[in-house]
Parts: sequence; C-alpha cells; structure tokens
Amino acid sequence: MTAGKDIRSLSREDLRTWMKEAGEAVFRGDQVYDWLWTKQASSFEAMSNLPKALRARLEVDFSFPQQSLATVQRSADGTLKNAVQLHDGLVVESVLIPTEKRITACVSSQVGCSLNCAFCATAKLKRMRNLEPHEIFDQVVTIHRQGLEEFGRPLTNIVFMGMGEPLLNYPNVLSAIERITAPDGLGLSPKRITLSTVGLPKMIVKMADEGVKFNLAVSLHSARNEVRSSMMPINEVSPVEEVVAAVQHWYRLTKRRITFEYVVWKGINDGPEDIAALVKVCKKVPCKVNLIEYNAIGDPRFLQADPAALEAYQTALAAAGIVAKVRRSRGKDIDAACGQLANK
Ligand code: SAH
Repeated sequence: MTAGKDIRSLSREDLRTWMKEAGEAVFRGDQVYDWLWTKQASSFEAMSNLPKALRARLEVDFSFPQQSLATVQRSADGTLKNAVQLHDGLVVESVLIPTEKRITACVSSQVGCSLNCAFCATAKLKRMRNLEPHEIFDQVVTIHRQGLEEFGRPLTNIVFMGMGEPLLNYPNVLSAIERITAPDGLGLSPKRITLSTVGLPKMIVKMADEGVKFNLAVSLHSARNEVRSSMMPINEVSPVEEVVAAVQHWYRLTKRRITFEYVVWKGINDGPEDIAALVKVCKKVPCKVNLIEYNAIGDPRFLQADPAALEAYQTALAAAGIVAKVRRSRGKDIDAACGQLANK
C-alpha cells in the first residue's frame, strides 16, 4: 500500500505534465490514461507497454485503489446483484438487469442516502459518503464484463437508480458519465444513460443549462404536496410546482422527454384525486410515466395498490395522451429490486 494520490484523479493533461516533470516522454501520460480508462487495467503491473522502472515509480508515487466484488447474488429471472466492496471497506450495490434486448447496469452514486424517503430501504443506511468518479465507472465496467461472461452480450444501458441521490454527488456523477461516454473511455452513448433523481429543481436546471446529453427520470410518486411530503421529506423543501417548473426548463433546453417514476400504494395515492393530480402535472411537460411495482421493505404502511388502481391510472393517463407503462420488478427474490438495496 502507498499513500500517494489516487492515479485516477488525474486528467490526461495532468498525467502528461507529471511525465514531463518526471523526465519521462510526454506520450507515457497518454499510455497511462489509456490503461486506466480505455483498457481498464487494475494495476500498474498490467501496464505492459511502460518500462518496468516507470511502473515501479508510479507504484511509489500514486495509489490505485480498487473495489472488489464481495458477493454476487443471482435471481431466478437472471438479474445479478453485486455487493461492491470499496477500498475503505464500505459496501455499495449494483445490479445487472438482463432483458431480451438489453443488458442494463443499475449503479450507485453514494454510500447510503440522506433523503429519507419512507418507502426506500437505502434510506435506513443514512449517507456515509459520495462515490468517486472511478468508483462509479468501475461498477459499470464490472457489469459490462459480467454481461459478456454470463450472457455473451455487452452492456447497453445504465440507470443511476442504485443507492444514493446522484444529484447530491453531481460533479463525480458527471465526471463518471464523461468517462463512460468518451470514445477513449467506454464509448457508450449518453442516450442510453438515465439519471434518476428525487427531484432537486436547482440541479435539474443546472444540468439543462450545461447541456448534458443523458436522460432524466424524476421520482414523483405523488403530484399532491401533502401526500408527497408525507413520504418524501425533500418535498417540504422542493414542492411539486418547483419540480415541474424545473423539468419544463429541462424540456425547453434539451427537447428530451422526462420520465416520472411512480409507485402506487394502497390507501396512499390510489384515489381519483391522486390520478387527477398526476394527469394535470403530466399535461404541463412532455413526459412518460413508469408505474413501478412496489418492493416491500417491511413497513406495514406501504402496500402495493390493487391492479384496478394501476389500470385506473393507465386509463386516465392514456386518455390525456400520456404513455404509462407498468414496470414489473426484477430481482425481487434477491432484494435487488428498486428501493430494496441494502435491505439485508
Ligand atoms: N435517489 C434517486 C435514485 C435511487 S432510487 C431517486 O430518488 O430517484 C430509484 C427508484 O426506486 C426511485 O424512483 C425510487 O423512488 C424508487 N424506489 C425506492 N424505494 C422503492 C421501493 N421500495 N419499491 C419500488 N421503488 C422504490
């Protein structure tokens, strides 16, 4: 173990400069960058086109912290849940979701979460720290490799729907996405990436202003402030109207339709007034609605609504010209489904 600076906190330019100052050829910086981000090497030793002496020197001057797979759980439906052990011993979870056409990685952005949504298992962990860009990147690389090994197919999509609130770790999430989408990184199209947020208006506006190219999903769950606030404390700070204004701004600038994520619970948001409120919001901004199946986390207040309630939502939304799909959960048997991460 060395205590040097994490090699992956250096940009390509930083690496070139370091080489120059170390009396090495500048192109060595590009070679290192290539090993780190294009070839995803996991040790200096593996950087076989660098002279041995240079590899030894990097070893002394830098640290190269690695994450490891503590466990991999397999669901009957093919879903894999990874417990990823970080260099400091903390654990986050990532999920590989295979479908006929896709291999989707569901990745974490924080260890724990500070938002305290009443229905979410991750909330019980509290927030411990933000993930570094390479810690997010490595979750993706691992799932890409698992896709090839287990299903013979590469990664096709990424959703930031694992542990944590990505917009509370925005710079690191953005820099991970840059590496994931860069031609000299993983080269994945940003169109295949979806960032899911509890709905932080200022951050949504900022992302739109910065011209990000990925997709946005907002966890709405209710369009009525009193109901939403009762489940999601953040709604006291950023109520529905502010979230709507922010996504309207997002649409004006990006021209990309957002997705509202929505779970319907018995006796909480399954009435006609709940449906009417959602339809009203959906008419204000081009969107689609994902009606997510609830994954129980052991709180008796929350029970999946009857199928009739879901149908009523779908009928009302369809009548208003809004696409609403019911999303069956994957990996439920291994607690890999939405909101179940860190359940056991
Ligand atoms: N913090 C981000 C991303 C993590 S949660 C966000 O809030 O969007 C990913 C999705 O799972 C969110 O829509 C969240 O509301 C939903 N979710 C949380 N707990 C759930 C549960 N027990 N069952 C179903 N979905 C849940």
